[in-house]
Amino acid sequence: MRNLFLTNTLTRKKELFVPINPGHVGMYVCGPTVYGDAHLGHARPGVTYDVLFKLLKLLGYKVRYVRNITDVGHLEHDADEGEDKIAKKARLEELEPMEVVQTYTERYHDAMRLLNVASPSIEPRASGHIIEQIEAIKKILAAGYAYESNGSVYFDVMKYNRDHNYGVLSGRTLEATLEGTRSLDGQGDKRAPYDFALWKKAEPQHIMRWPSPWGEGFPGWHLECSVMGEKYLGYEFDIHGGGMDLMFPHHECEIAQNQASRGTSGVRYWVHNNMITINGQKMGKSLGNFITLPELFSGNHKLLEKAYSPMTIRFFILQAHYRSTLDFSNEALQASEKGYKRLMQAGRDLKDIATAPGEASAQVLDIVEAVMDALCDDLNTPIAIANLSEAVKLINMSKDKKATLTDGDKKALLKLFDEVVYGVLGLVDEDAAGGSGKAEKALEGAMEIVLEDRRKARAAKDWAESDRIRDLLKASGITVKDTKDGATWTLE
Ligand code: ZN
Repeated sequence: MRNLFLTNTLTRKKELFVPINPGHVGMYVCGPTVYGDAHLGHARPGVTYDVLFKLLKLLGYKVRYVRNITDVGHLEHDADEGEDKIAKKARLEELEPMEVVQTYTERYHDAMRLLNVASPSIEPRASGHIIEQIEAIKKILAAGYAYESNGSVYFDVMKYNRDHNYGVLSGRTLEATLEGTRSLDGQGDKRAPYDFALWKKAEPQHIMRWPSPWGEGFPGWHLECSVMGEKYLGYEFDIHGGGMDLMFPHHECEIAQNQASRGTSGVRYWVHNNMITINGQKMGKSLGNFITLPELFSGNHKLLEKAYSPMTIRFFILQAHYRSTLDFSNEALQASEKGYKRLMQAGRDLKDIATAPGEASAQVLDIVEAVMDALCDDLNTPIAIANLSEAVKLINMSKDKKATLTDGDKKALLKLFDEVVYGVLGLVDEDAAGGSGKAEKALEGAMEIVLEDRRKARAAKDWAESDRIRDLLKASGITVKDTKDGATWTLE
């Protein structure tokens, strides 16, 4: 098997990936808190860990990929102070919190599907694991690393730090953490400002609440990932991913909870993707530069010069290394659109290229190797794409009759496109038949022809023929309905 190297945030080194059990790689990625539309900040981890998931599978690993949905416990300030983000949205829109969760989970799935991000193997929800979270809190209390205070339970960071290292992942010291801690309501129940909530007492107005040994309340945000990771991947698993903004406090707390509840930090390789900036600025609602994925796909935002297709966005994300910041701008996206289209055109041309008999050349084999080496070198997608451009040049030269590819070359390049371009990089050819726009237009045209034939049969009272056409379409997943204005059709 080809060696894969990943930068491990825990050791701050690029390390050879050695799974605990090669027949069963466990990967956990923090999913979205579903209280609004998915935005650029969701697209990047979505695409990054999709590439890792697909690469691991191409390398021959069997992978169980868990990506959660946060639907309770993520509070507005410092993650565990203030109002629950979902409860707040529900209050503002006069909905049940779970209606908010349903709506935005579906919208998140739609956006990920458009970006060709594969579904995880398991997508657990925090609210479906309250019992497991209560059990984990009991263990942490029994181990002496948590305390109950006025109906809430807090993690005792100072005590934990005496026995272990709180800050092992982020490199933050307790003093630095103290300086960065905000002073807000509710802190009065904590012994120290850096302590974090495992369980929060529900105030009378708080609508998302469950019974517990400490009274009615709800779990702290950080606990869900500890609990769901353990439940589906075991005490210790291979890879945990997420955005760099989650490294502290979310993932730092996760490690502390794991150590306190089950005696192991739980994860071998911590992988973090960097953030997307917009014209050099951090993305934020208050800055007016917050762009959702539906807005990007439709072009409906004041910062957008045009609509950008999902594959343009995907290509744009792949053009930067996942550990680098990625700056969004119209210019950058338009350059990505060109690069993406050029690569897709080459993939289409390759299929029709005439070849000479012969084995694959060293030149083509070197390109294939370089692409795979780049992907296995800490998911270096920009280098992989640069090497794919060499393949594009060869294909274009061959198309212009300035070079000749052999049968072996063509076979190797077709395999490269299938496995890497359409496979690991997950680029879908949006302009090819089977892609979005053109295929829909083609279907509409074909249906007009078919329904016109059926209309003629009906005009001639040839009911058998009319029914035959309807039944054939039905078998292909197209339902025809006769109305007084003529026949309409829908895809099932
Ligand atoms: Zn998480």
